[in-house]
Amino acid sequence: MDVTFLIDSLNDTQRQAVTAPSKSMLILAGAGSGKTRVLVHRIVWQIQVEGLSPHSILAVTFTNKAAAEMRERIEKLLNIPTRAMWIGTFHGLAHRILRRHAQQAKLPDTFQILDSDDQLRVIKRLLKSMSIDDKKWPPRQVQWFINAQKDEGLRANHIADTGDYFVKQMLVLYKAYEDICNRSGLVDFAELLLRAHELLRDNPDLLHFYQRRFRQVHVDEFQDTNTIQYAWLRLLTEGQDNLFIVGDDDQSIYGWRGAKIANIFSFQKHYPNHEIIRLEQNYRSTGNILHAANKLIAHNSNRMGKQLWTDAGEGELISLYSAFNEQDEAYFVVERIKQWIEKDGLKQDVAILYRSNAQSRQFEERLMTAAIPYRVYGGLRFFERAEIKSSLAYLRLLSNRNDDPSFERVVNTPTRGIGAKTMDSLRDLARSEEISLWDASTALLKQDFFTARASNALKKFLQLINDLEFLCEELELFEKVKLVGEKCGLIELYKKEKDDRGEARIENLEELVNAARGFDYHADNEENLNELDMFLAHASLESGEMQGANSDDCIQLMTLHSAKGLEFKQVFMVGLEEGLFPSGQSVDDIARLEEERRLCYVGITRAMEQLYISYAESRRLYGKETYPSPSRFLREIPAEFTQDVRIRANITQPSAKKQSASLASQSTYRAGQKVSHPKFGTGLVLQIEGEGKQEKVQVNFNGGRKWLMAAYARLEIL
Ligand code: ATP
Ligand code: MG
Repeated sequence: MDVTFLIDSLNDTQRQAVTAPSKSMLILAGAGSGKTRVLVHRIVWQIQVEGLSPHSILAVTFTNKAAAEMRERIEKLLNIPTRAMWIGTFHGLAHRILRRHAQQAKLPDTFQILDSDDQLRVIKRLLKSMSIDDKKWPPRQVQWFINAQKDEGLRANHIADTGDYFVKQMLVLYKAYEDICNRSGLVDFAELLLRAHELLRDNPDLLHFYQRRFRQVHVDEFQDTNTIQYAWLRLLTEGQDNLFIVGDDDQSIYGWRGAKIANIFSFQKHYPNHEIIRLEQNYRSTGNILHAANKLIAHNSNRMGKQLWTDAGEGELISLYSAFNEQDEAYFVVERIKQWIEKDGLKQDVAILYRSNAQSRQFEERLMTAAIPYRVYGGLRFFERAEIKSSLAYLRLLSNRNDDPSFERVVNTPTRGIGAKTMDSLRDLARSEEISLWDASTALLKQDFFTARASNALKKFLQLINDLEFLCEELELFEKVKLVGEKCGLIELYKKEKDDRGEARIENLEELVNAARGFDYHADNEENLNELDMFLAHASLESGEMQGANSDDCIQLMTLHSAKGLEFKQVFMVGLEEGLFPSGQSVDDIARLEEERRLCYVGITRAMEQLYISYAESRRLYGKETYPSPSRFLREIPAEFTQDVRIRANITQPSAKKQSASLASQSTYRAGQKVSHPKFGTGLVLQIEGEGKQEKVQVNFNGGRKWLMAAYARLEIL
């Protein structure tokens, strides 16, 4: 068989890693050195040359996007479908195992996934039902505690009660939360991993089955595995010496979620026959970008240490832009993107990377005004929208009546006259009897507990769910979704909403029907699972995948965290300001600061040809006006690799809507100008709109921002 195509495009070290006989291996190398490429080629090599069945391959990575890309690349090289291969994220694969063996995992067949919003809501309700003060015990902190324990593989009964007041209370809550989830058949994200681990650990036959099945286990981005993920990998590869991991300690960015760089050391101890291969040539970025990244990361102390080189030439310098404010920053970025597009650059090769999701709005607005298509990863995702969640909650109830969060969500949406008093009685009984809200409803209805009105309303709701299930029985998945959307009353409800919001919600519900129609249930036909449950799980696990097809040519917007592993020709890394990036919580803590620096290293090394870094002198974020200083990371990049961009000298209107330059220049004002007002004092001009008598100026005074009519405002230019 001719496999030259597999190894021709590799350098010597990469080739050595790809073709090595089966054993445990660690590819430890910096960004863009071909780690993922080696992993993909090795999988193909093992199938083509070593004769392994695609069935016996397991490959894990961190995001759905990365998993989809890996699958695509393997498919291209192999020229056969990859369905039989288990390629996915830790959560996705754990879910798959739990679905197949729900009973052994002590879960109902119809168990549903609780995403983090749902989880928080369950915790809030729990605190309320236990009359615990949520000011003293903030729900987010409880959520964090529970997830952190699960990431470490710990159940409430594993944790020693040290007598510590805080731990004691948290344990009570953790236990109560576990009870609710078990009773309702709900599994949160951390639970997926923990339970999948326990399932294999406690069922030796099952474990042996999977150990025999997965002849080779591959992990990308290993530096970001947490304790339970690593424990799961160890179980699967126990005694087999077949774990192939690739990673980069300098790109570990999930410490705050329990990831352990130390897993790299543990691997070396646990797999004594392993081989380590280091890759040093970077194939992604031009010299200036790469040198800047190397210099920046050298400021971190605890490193395994490596230097990357490239023969791609120095390339362009990194452009630094000091924006006047966040609007000016967005304006600048979009102007540069326009130039890129005019020069025939593909939109999909451009990414805007930011530290926090809240930053995306400015860029979205600008891109929208400029009619440039874009796609946001993360943020408020399709499946997280209120109307979608409500519609899914009805569907979940059809599948599992004990799903209390879904019951709570839609029992009175749209309003059916089921009030707080009725709900309190249901919750009380559910809690004391340890039954679901659904069962509490039937029990109390039987006892004629409620007033006639309340009783009728509740009966009608239960009847609706039962009827819907009956009506849906013979239908295709998308027909079910459509029917439930129509009959549950949500569409009627949204029709009554006056503004465009209601309309947008109805459109989203229609989009959900489309999503169901396009849902590829048979992607994995070795499993005989309920299609609706698979769709609901898909909605919880793969939320980001709904906005436009991957192949769409559009600008990519995402957080630095979700950019890991990806590459783009042109990258804008925005908001490099103290307090934002590095983030406010990290500046006093060396370990967290170093993690932020690694995040910055990840950001820089996404760029292939052009990198723009920007920061704003003033920024409104989370409703507050701030005047941050430039990020310390900017000082850590030597000036020889950067150039300052001065755009304000030639563009006087940072946020004007594509007005002609001549109009703009007629204005007496320009952004950044210092002015004084008889009443408001001195301030800085932010933006100018309109002309002549209609001209409006936005000024940032000490007391806040104000729009003023230029002709009447009596502003004095200082
Ligand atoms: P990261 O740390 O960011 O995940 P990585 O080490 O996984 O990066 P890859 O994404 O595999 O790096 O490779 C970076 C880029 O370099 C890709 O475009 C890849 O196709 C290219 N590349 C890797 N090795 C070679 C090679 N030997 N010849 C040509 N191009 C290569
Ligand atoms: Mg990679």
